This record gives sequence, structure tokens and C-alpha cells, in this order.
Amino acid sequence: MFETLSDRLTSVFSSLRGKGRLSEEDINATAREIRLALLEADVALPVVREFIGHIKERARGEEVSKALNPAQQVIKIVNEELIQILGGETREIRFAKNPPTVIMLAGLQGSGKTTLAGKLARWLAGERNTPLLVAADLQRPNAVTQLQVVGERAGTPVFAPEPGNGVGDPVAVAKASIEHAERNNHNVVIIDTAGRLGIDAEMMQQAADIRDAVTPDEILFVVDAMIGQDAVNTAQAFLDGVGYDAVALTKLDGDARGGAALSIRHITGRPIMFASTGEKLEDFDLFHPDRMAGRILD
Ligand code: GDP
Repeated sequence: MFETLSDRLTSVFSSLRGKGRLSEEDINATAREIRLALLEADVALPVVREFIGHIKERARGEEVSKALNPAQQVIKIVNEELIQILGGETREIRFAKNPPTVIMLAGLQGSGKTTLAGKLARWLAGERNTPLLVAADLQRPNAVTQLQVVGERAGTPVFAPEPGNGVGDPVAVAKASIEHAERNNHNVVIIDTAGRLGIDAEMMQQAADIRDAVTPDEILFVVDAMIGQDAVNTAQAFLDGVGYDAVALTKLDGDARGGAALSIRHITGRPIMFASTGEKLEDFDLFHPDRMAGRILD
């Protein structure tokens, strides 16, 4: 994860080793190198600009600490700024006062939405919840079956339209699932919605219709981190088309660069809530900005 960025930053820091106080020239050269590292990592330009602005300002202004040499001081500043750009605090789920808490997932096909639904269900069950998975992706013939397979692996029941009921109406399924959850003591409902391969007005409208029908407590935008800056464009389109409260980043295990992770919070103003790091259901956790920054600088 983020190996390319890690390596680049490590070499920037090592060039500072052995230096006494940093000159203006040192600061500018370091900022330039960090800028290049971020651009190579596919971080969005406005994010890079702000990040570098902060680094320079703080490197110039920071009290010279006796405990840290200049290289350590720059690492400390970069670490703190990385944490900020990744969202600062860990964002927890906001549970509804009156259950069930309704969590709706939105995102492109292939983003890892269905897998994430299962991971989230398993994780929630581990936190003493009683989740229900809802198959509101009725676009692809296989989507319902796929969610049922995931639900079985996660040990979570799946609410789906009865087989042979024709095409089915995802809004009706989503609405009915809430009543089903109330009757069967599920305190969290996770609704998997239909995605397409690209941005599509009909897909957005369907997600917006489900949103209006069930007023979710949390809408999570699920996005594949490996698509880099495209993630930022997709994130913006979903923000305009459906709106969401937080982001779930998937496939971080295959992302050597980190551009999506480092850009998405700043560009969308929405926190990253979950990180998915593999195909197995247990490869999943809340997103911790400080741990992620630590991994980048490890
Ligand atoms: P959906 O179309 O959005 O529902 O996406 P799926 O859940 O079907 O996932 C698409 C593919 O990505 C599947 O082959 C998953 O196994 C894989 N996948 C999902 N999440 C991750 C992840 O975090 N890491 C990796 N390496 N693969 C993932």
C-alpha cells in the first residue's frame, strides 16, 4: 500500500539527514521534492498546493526543537499534515436514535460495493449489531445472488425480492426491507444499490430515489482507490447526483500510489470512514488517518 509514495518521501527525508538548521533554500528544495512525490502519487493539484503551502509555512515558522534534528522536524510536519489531509479524526458510524440505522451504499459497478456490504455486515456483527443486507441492485442478473453469497459468508441474512418476481423495483425492496428489519430486530440495514461501469444519469436517479424513499442515516460512497484521480471525478459526480456522508475506499491493498486516499477528503469535504484492503471479508476496518499517515512514512 502506497509503496511508491513511501519510497519517494523516504528519499526526500534522507537527503536532509546530517543537516544543521534548514536554510530557505533547503526548505524550498524539500518542498519541491515532496510536491513531485505527491504529483507522482496522483494526488489532485489543489490538494498538493495546499499541502506544500502548509509544509513550507510550518518549516519556516516552527520553533527549532532541540529534541529533533531538521530531518525529524520535517518528518513530524509532513506526518501531521498527512493526518490532516486524510481527515484528522476517525469518523465513526452515526447510529440512529430509533433503530434500524439505515446505511446505503452507492458507487460504480466493480468498485467493490457488494464485497464491502458483506465486510461491513461482518464488522457490525462483531460490534454486537444485528445487521440485515438488502439487495437493491436489481440491474445485473447476478447481483442478488452475489450478495446472497457474501451474506452467507458474513453470517448475515439478506433481504431480496422473491425469485420469479420479474425485474423488481429497488425502491420498493429498500422500503420493504426497513419494515422487515423492524419486525425481525435488525438494528442496522445495509442497502446495496446498483452501479454502472461509468457515470450514468439513470443510475444516479435510482440511487436518489432509494435515498428519498428510506432517508438513510449514512450514505457511503464506495470507491476503488486504484483508479487514482478518476476516483476524485467519480466522487464529485456522486456528490452532485446522490450526495453522501462519508467515503469507503476499497482495494487499498493494490494501490501503490495513494492519490485517491490523499485527495478525496479535501476535494469532497467528506470523511473517509472505511478502508478495504483485500478480497477477504476480514480485510476491512474503520479508516484511521493517523495510522495511514504512519504507514506512508514508515
Ligand atoms: P461491485 O460491482 O461494486 O459490487 O464490486 P464487487 O464487490 O463485486 O467487487 C469487484 C471485485 O473487486 C471483486 O473481484 C472483489 O473480490 C474485488 N474486491 C473488492 N474489494 C477489494 C479489496 O479491498 N481489495 C481487492 N484486492 N479486491 C477487492
